[in-house]
Formats: sequence, structure tokens, C-alpha cells
Amino acid sequence: MPTLEAAAGQLPWRLGFSAKLGRHAVAEKDLPAGTLILTEKPVVAIPRSKLAGHACHACFRPLSSPVENKEGFNPCLPRYCASCKNAPANAETVQLDSKLLGLRIKLADIAKEHPVEPELLHLLVLLDVRRSAQAAAGGKPEAPPTPGGEPAAPVLHCTVADVDALHSPWERKPEAWRKTVTASLRPLHKELAALEESGALPGYRASRLEQLQSDAAMLICNLQGVGAEGASQDAGVGLFAAAAALNHSCRPNCHTVTMGQTMCVRTIVDVPAGAQLTVCHAQAYDPRPVRQAALLQERGIKCACERCAEPLAKSTDRYLEGVWCLNCTTDVLLAVPPGTPEAEVAAATYEAQMAALEAEEAARSKKGGRKAAEEGAANGPAQEAQQQGEGAAQAPAGDAQQEGGEDAAKEEGQQQQKPVVRWWRCAGCGYVEPAHNTAASGPGDVLLQADKLWRQGAMLYQMKMPQLMLQAEAFLQSLQAGVDGRLHPYHARVIDSLAPLINLALRRSDALGVFNYSVALWEAENAIQGRYSLHQLQYLNAIIDTSAAKATNTQSAVIKRQFEKKLKAAKSTAAEIRRVLLGKS
Ligand SMILES: [Zn+2]
Ligand SMILES: [Zn+2]
Ligand SMILES: [Zn+2]
Repeated sequence: MPTLEAAAGQLPWRLGFSAKLGRHAVAEKDLPAGTLILTEKPVVAIPRSKLAGHACHACFRPLSSPVENKEGFNPCLPRYCASCKNAPANAETVQLDSKLLGLRIKLADIAKEHPVEPELLHLLVLLDVRRSAQAAAGGKPEAPPTPGGEPAAPVLHCTVADVDALHSPWERKPEAWRKTVTASLRPLHKELAALEESGALPGYRASRLEQLQSDAAMLICNLQGVGAEGASQDAGVGLFAAAAALNHSCRPNCHTVTMGQTMCVRTIVDVPAGAQLTVCHAQAYDPRPVRQAALLQERGIKCACERCAEPLAKSTDRYLEGVWCLNCTTDVLLAVPPGTPEAEVAAATYEAQMAALEAEEAARSKKGGRKAAEEGAANGPAQEAQQQGEGAAQAPAGDAQQEGGEDAAKEEGQQQQKPVVRWWRCAGCGYVEPAHNTAASGPGDVLLQADKLWRQGAMLYQMKMPQLMLQAEAFLQSLQAGVDGRLHPYHARVIDSLAPLINLALRRSDALGVFNYSVALWEAENAIQGRYSLHQLQYLNAIIDTSAAKATNTQSAVIKRQFEKKLKAAKSTAAEIRRVLLGKS
């Protein structure tokens, strides 16, 4: 029986099943923000390949005599610190290691021949050996839940039975990925069959190739960072089968934190009884299409979460990809998908806008006499040139209208094989602009400039050379300023620019820069998600440090009071975030 099922009644949530949500987690009662809903130890955990010679494979602490990661190094061979090697609790594991030695040597060879992470093969072997042992033991839980630190959350040690209850995304992974992985799983499967044949592991039965495939896809989607107690979480990777019951949402109501090898899941907003519990597996501040593509590619998830289901023009998601509308200056222009009915409507709206503009100008030239008429004539050709610059549908549309109808225009456009005009439409006032214009000031042009600034800025920043940092900062600053104010302050590219700018300001000890960028980042994240994140705690800490320094160092009583006020507010918010996300103040 899976440990998660055995723990039913001890957790403040239960498993639900439905056609729409599949297997999911449901709150059993009202769960206020900050409630610990799960504490879990990994089913399997190993060091990351590049650290396998440096960290103990049981406790992930640094080894006293590390093995260099050079030619001939095998990351799949287990290495233990002295206390783990001699611990009675590890006796069985250490004994098993000696029996798996030959197989582990082969794993490194397979990983060398195929573009696959040795970690994955190593985890698959450990999982398969456990699966077989569990079947032999008659399927009873290997370790029952143990009481945890907080009353509502026992510590779950899930087993392979929990892993087997998960749905593998194998079928939903891209075909190219499946091919590559299968190429490495075939020799692995052969080795496992040989292990069974040899009788070195009494009772071991190798799984079928299909099981390995399903496990591989499941592992790729569910691995989480683990580390030594109290250290950072990047020494190893582990599989947490109970936490995997929580589905993804781009606007999650829970979050996970791993401390050492213990994962804690907490609610981050008040969750009513009966609601689904979710965590976020995407970058929350990527634009919707970027998040969705990454989720599909990495986890086989077609996201239909509440945030993704909102009409874009009404969702805060629009700011992440929007360019300020110069017509109303209160909302953003969004790209209209080409070839859709909306694109046709946008084209018609643009025509109407132009016609209205011309009528207005004609009226003005009549009224204003000769001088105004001259101005109108000067504008006329410029507009025409602009329209021709858009290419495609517009120029023919002007001619075609006289011939009678938009269909003719479309046909003519297709015959000439000109590129289709891409339209952007304001989410607020409905104003339409073509993506590009001859002045290179269209929303599409602004985005091209933003991408260029980001590429240049990020490239120079990543080179980490002091002499290039000023240049990197200049590029990132013009991006942060929204490419002359055309990008919304919550545009994804602007948000991207802020974290490196904070670091650059820190390097220069520019306290005010750190403060301003941190505030901007904090505000953007808050406006888009309206939820706490560990990131925000980082920015708040920068805000706290800077405000404290400013409040102490200033001569002016007014400025002192200002920063003391900011300091107090930032401190109390940080305390609230720590309480909700980490369960401590
Ligand atoms: Zn150890
Ligand atoms: Zn989503
Ligand atoms: Zn507008």
C-alpha cells in the first residue's frame, strides 16, 4: 500500500481523482496561508553527477577526501563519509552497493555513449531494485509515517508503491526525447536482465523496458534539489512521490521548500476546504506562451490553470508581454494572432482609424486655410509611405476597396505572397497598430529592440569581467527604462533585467540603486502574482539593508524618517513572508 494512502487521515488533505484534473490533492478543511500540509523524505536521492566525487551519497555533506571529476571518473559509484559508512542504518545499503558494483561501472559507460545524464540511469537502477524488493516483501509499506514537528504533518517516507501510483508523462514527452532516452535504456535494460540472471541479488526481477521508460519520464518531471542538512539544495536530486500529487498551477496556492533532504509544502494563500492544492513548476514571470511551451516541453503539461484560462486582455499576464498603448496611455497593446478572425477585425479597425484620421485632417485643412492645407499635404505622402512599409494587406487593401471588397484584397495579397501584417491591439481602448512601421516605432519594433538590449546586456553580464560590467549595466538600464518608456514596467524583459541590475548595483555598493531596483522587482512580482515567493524575501532583504543604511547615514531628519518608515514596513512584510513560506519569523 502506498505510504500516502496509509497516511490518509493524518494529513489535512486527501487524494482526489477526476477526469478533468486526474489525480490531485484536495484540502480537507480550510487551510490558512502558511499551513504546513506535507513533510516528506525522498524515495531515492543521489548527488548530482558533477558533485558525485565531492559529496557523501547518503548525507550529501562534503567528503573529507573528494575524488576529482576528471577522465575516467564514474559518478555512479557510491562514496560515503566515515559516519555514514559505519552507521548501522546504512549497513543494508552499503552491502547492496557491493552487489551493484559491476552494474554501476557499466552505467558510466552507457551514459558516455548516449546523451543522457548518468544521474537518470543511476536513479532508475535504484528504483528498480527497490521495486523488486517491495514486490518480494508483499507490498507492505517499507516505512510508516513518523510524527513530524507540527501536529498536522507526519513525515512521509514514500515507497515505490507511491511512485507507481503516479501517472508517467512518457506518452506526452516529445518524440525526439523518447528516442534518445530509449537508446540509453535498451543497454540499461540488458544490464538489469544480466543482474537478474547472475543471481547476485536474490529475488531480484528486472522490470520491462516499458517500465524503465515510464520511470525515466516520471523522474525527469519530478526530481527536486536536495542537499546536506543546513546547506544549499544543489548537491543532489531526490524524488518526492507524495508532493508529486500536487498538480501545477501558474497561480499556485502552495509552495515547496527543501531543507536538507526534507521537503516541506505549505499553503501560501488561504485555501478553502474542498479546493485543489497546487504548486508552480513554471517561471511565474514568463509570459503566458513561454510558460506554456516550457511546461509542455519539460513536463508534458498542457496548462489550463486559472491564470492561463483568463482572457489575456483582462489578465495581469498581459503586462508581461504588453507594450504601452500611445493612444490611451493607460493600457497595453497585445499581439493579435495572425490568420485569425481577430486579425481580420484588427485590420478593419486600423482602416477605420486611418479613415477617421484622414477625415479629421481634411476638416482641419478646410477650416485652417492655406497653411493647414499645406501641412495636410505633407502628412499625406508620409502616411502612404508608412502604409507601403507595412507591406502586405494594407497597400493592396486601399486599391482593392475601390474595386469592391476585402476578399479581393485578401486574394491579391495571397497571390503576391507578401508577408502578412501582424497587428497589435490595445487591451483597454481597442486601438490597433501594425507590429512594424517605417519609423521602427511599432510594438514589434520595440520588442526587437528589447530583445537586442537583453541579449547584449545578459551576454556581457554573464562574462563576469569587471571592464564589461559598465556596458552590461547600460544595456540593462535602457531595458529597465522600458526602451524609452514603451515597455510596461511589468514586461517580462523589464523584470528579467532587474535581478542582474540589483547584483551590479551591489557590486558598486550603490545602495540607492539596489533599493530602487528591488522595489521595482517587488512591485512587479506582487502585481502579477499577488503571492509571496522566496525571491521576494531576497529583494526585501536588500530593501531592508539599504533603508537601514540610509536612515543611519543621512543628516536630514526628513530623509531619516522616510527611510525608517520604509525599513519598518519592509521588516514587517519580510516577517510575514517568512511565517507563510518557511513557518518561522
Ligand atoms: Zn554521509
Ligand atoms: Zn498556467
Ligand atoms: Zn489604448
